[in-house]
Amino acid sequence: MLHFFLIFLTLTSLYANKIQDFKWANGVTYSEFLEQHTLPRKPLLDNLDVDDRRLVEEIRAGVNCNLLVDNDEKILQVLIPLNDELQIHIYKTDTSYKFEAIPIVSETRTESFTLKIQSNPSIDIKRETGSYSLVAIFSNAFGSSLDFTALRKGDDLVMIYEQKYRLGKAFSMPTLLAAMVETNNKPHYIYLNEDGRYYDEKGTQIESFLLARPVKNARISSRFTKRRFHPVLKRWKAHLGMDYAARRGTPVVAAGNGTVVYAARMGSYGNLIKIRHKDHYETRYAHLKSFRRGIRKGKRVKKGQTIGYVGTTGRSTGPHLHFELRKKGRAINPAKRVQLTTKRLKSKEKAAFIELSTNYNKKITLNLDEQKAYIKKQAIEKSCYFNNRELDG
Ligand SMILES: [Zn+2]
Repeated sequence: MLHFFLIFLTLTSLYANKIQDFKWANGVTYSEFLEQHTLPRKPLLDNLDVDDRRLVEEIRAGVNCNLLVDNDEKILQVLIPLNDELQIHIYKTDTSYKFEAIPIVSETRTESFTLKIQSNPSIDIKRETGSYSLVAIFSNAFGSSLDFTALRKGDDLVMIYEQKYRLGKAFSMPTLLAAMVETNNKPHYIYLNEDGRYYDEKGTQIESFLLARPVKNARISSRFTKRRFHPVLKRWKAHLGMDYAARRGTPVVAAGNGTVVYAARMGSYGNLIKIRHKDHYETRYAHLKSFRRGIRKGKRVKKGQTIGYVGTTGRSTGPHLHFELRKKGRAINPAKRVQLTTKRLKSKEKAAFIELSTNYNKKITLNLDEQKAYIKKQAIEKSCYFNNRELDG
């Protein structure tokens, strides 16, 4: 732990050196970045193991990075965030440079806001908060479960969400914890349950993009993690997918309806299929022994349809399917979307859910009360203003 705190101390306290913020430019590869900054390719790319090489492929355009340079503009350190939890740290040593993946030190704050509908939730949330991300998480969570055309001017909307901050700046997508929106004076609630799924006030899961298991009856041999301290390698690693151990040749099925956008070899992934789904979702199936006949780029596939066969091509230690789910290019945990169990909450889970939703309801009520008090106060101030004018006149 101490180690990465020291990095930040170094970053902020050595005022002889300068911190430069920059956004990762669109279309720039990691290799090109090294070249542009005359950083040595050998220790920072060529000598990386295959997992770290996969990490550098995760760098996204537009991400906020930091450089620490000395008086001669020589690079001392680079920080490149990969996801909410892990970042690449490049640092100068006496003789060369070193590469490592380290956790992001972040602070998570719970925030909320209340508004009265003027036109529709998207426009109103954007106007109230200035954030497109909050619009996105609101509409993703409610999905098609709510008829937005039934909204009327003056209906209440409350959102409670979590936002991460890195070095004092908001970063990464916020997470919607709970929301309430009124239509025709009837409140509709949504809550993020402990299982990572959204439920309404009755404990019914809100329909969202649900996937089938890509390999039937297979054991999950490795789960999704954005940061994990590897006990053997003694360093931070990420596993941005789910592994299903299965015998070579076991059929792999499309997890959802979509279009094949890639079916060929790709580096450490081996034989890889990528399927594009609705709402910017994409699934990836790696290490395949072979593709099913007819499965090629442009082919439309149905949920549950066989697309290939389990193998161990690419960088793999044994036959298994490495399965990834991405949204707009970002890896997300498939476990939250793959339907493994029934959607109804059972007695114990239901009790926990009721406790959770009751707590959120209290917060929502508090928000609404504050809004009412604020509107009342404004009305009083306004009437005082007019009264005074009358007296003056
Ligand atoms: Zn894997």
